[in-house]
Amino acid sequence: MSFFDEWLVAKRNSLKTGGRWREIPDIDHGADLIVSLNGRQVINLASNNYLGLAGQEAMKEAAMQGVMAYGTSSGASRLVTGTFGLYNQLESALAELKKQEACLVFGSGYAANVGLVTALAGRGSVVFSDRLNHASIVDGIVLSRARHVRYRHNDMDHLAYCLKKNRDIREKFLITDSVFSMDGDRADLGALVALCREHDVIMAVDEAHATGIVGQGRGLACELGLEREIHLHMGTLSKGLGSYGGFVCARQEVVDLLKNLARSFVFSTALPPSVIGAGLCGVRWVQDHPQEGDRLLELAARFRGFLASLGFDVGPSTTQIIPVIIRDNAKTLWARDHLLASGVLVAAIRPPTVPQGTSRLRLALRADMLPEHLAKVRTAFVRLQEAMA
Ligand code: PMP
Repeated sequence: MSFFDEWLVAKRNSLKTGGRWREIPDIDHGADLIVSLNGRQVINLASNNYLGLAGQEAMKEAAMQGVMAYGTSSGASRLVTGTFGLYNQLESALAELKKQEACLVFGSGYAANVGLVTALAGRGSVVFSDRLNHASIVDGIVLSRARHVRYRHNDMDHLAYCLKKNRDIREKFLITDSVFSMDGDRADLGALVALCREHDVIMAVDEAHATGIVGQGRGLACELGLEREIHLHMGTLSKGLGSYGGFVCARQEVVDLLKNLARSFVFSTALPPSVIGAGLCGVRWVQDHPQEGDRLLELAARFRGFLASLGFDVGPSTTQIIPVIIRDNAKTLWARDHLLASGVLVAAIRPPTVPQGTSRLRLALRADMLPEHLAKVRTAFVRLQEAMA
C-alpha cells in the first residue's frame, strides 16, 4: 500500500469509528414544500426555503431575466471587472431592508462570515463568539489569527467575565448568530449591545435564519430597534430569500473597507446574474409581504406546543426552526426514517454539527404550509410518539 492509500484508509476509518462519516443521498428534487423522494411525494421540512420562495414563478423568471441580460457568469471578481446594474439594485434593496447605509454581497453566507471576520480582526485582536455560532464564524476567527474567546451559549455572566479578563486588549469584536441554526432560539441582542458598549467592542450579527422572517423580514436587530447599535449585519440570500449568496450591511465606510480587505470577496468571482436576479426578487417579495414572517412564527409556536404536548423535547426554540431532541444518534436516524415512512422529510442532525448527546431532528417550518400539510405532519408525529413509547 502506498502512503497515500494508507493515509486515506486511516482517515476514513477514524471518521467511521467516530460516527462522523456522512453519505449524501441522491435526490431528484429541489427545495419545494412537496418533493418527490424515491418516487413518493413527501412534505419537505428539511430545507431552509422558509418562505417557499425558491420555487415561485416570479423568482424563476427573475433568474432567467438575469441570464438574458448578462449571461450565465459574471466572469471575474468585481474588483477586476466591475459591478453590473443588478448587483447595485440588490445591494441597495438589502441595505434598505436592513436599515443600513450600504451593503456588500459575497459568494455565499459562509464567504461573507469568513470575509467579515478576517477583514476586521487579526493578530492582536480578540473575537468573542457564542459557543453555538455557525461554523463559518468559527472558521473566520481561526483564519484571522485573532484570539478566539468562546462564551457559553447566551450566557451573559460568562461573557461579562470573559470581557473583563480581556479588558487590556484594545481591538475587541463580538459576533453572534441572531437565530441559532440548530436550536432555533434567539440571541439576547439587547444585553449583548449593552455589554459591547460598556467594553468598547465592535459588534456583528449573523441574521442568516432571521432575514425574511423576524422583524417583518428585516431581522432581529431591526425588530429590537438595535440596527444603529450593531455595527455589521450579515445575512444570506440562500434561506428565507430563496436564492443564493451572502451579504454584509453596515455604514458606507465599513462596506468600503470590506471591499478592500475581505479576501473571500476580493479573490472570488462575483455571483452569476441569475442568482442576483432571483435574490433581488426575493428581497422585494419580503418588502411587499412583511407579515409573512410573523405568520410563520405563530404557526411554529402552535406546532411547538403540539410537539411538547406529545412529550417531545423541542429545546429552547422560539422560531421556525424546531429541534426535536432525541439524544441518541441511532435513535435519531430511526425517528427520521419513521417520519419519512409517514411522508414527512426532516433532517437528522448529529455531532459534530451539534454537541455530543444532543442528536436531534431539525424541522424547518415554512410559510407555504397549508392546514392539510400541517395535519399530515401532526399525524406523523403522533405515530412516531406511539412507536417510541
Ligand atoms: N450563518 C449561519 C447561522 C448559517 O446557518 C449558515 C448556513 N447554514 C451560514 C451562515 C452560511 O450561509 P450559506 O449557506 O449561504 O453559505
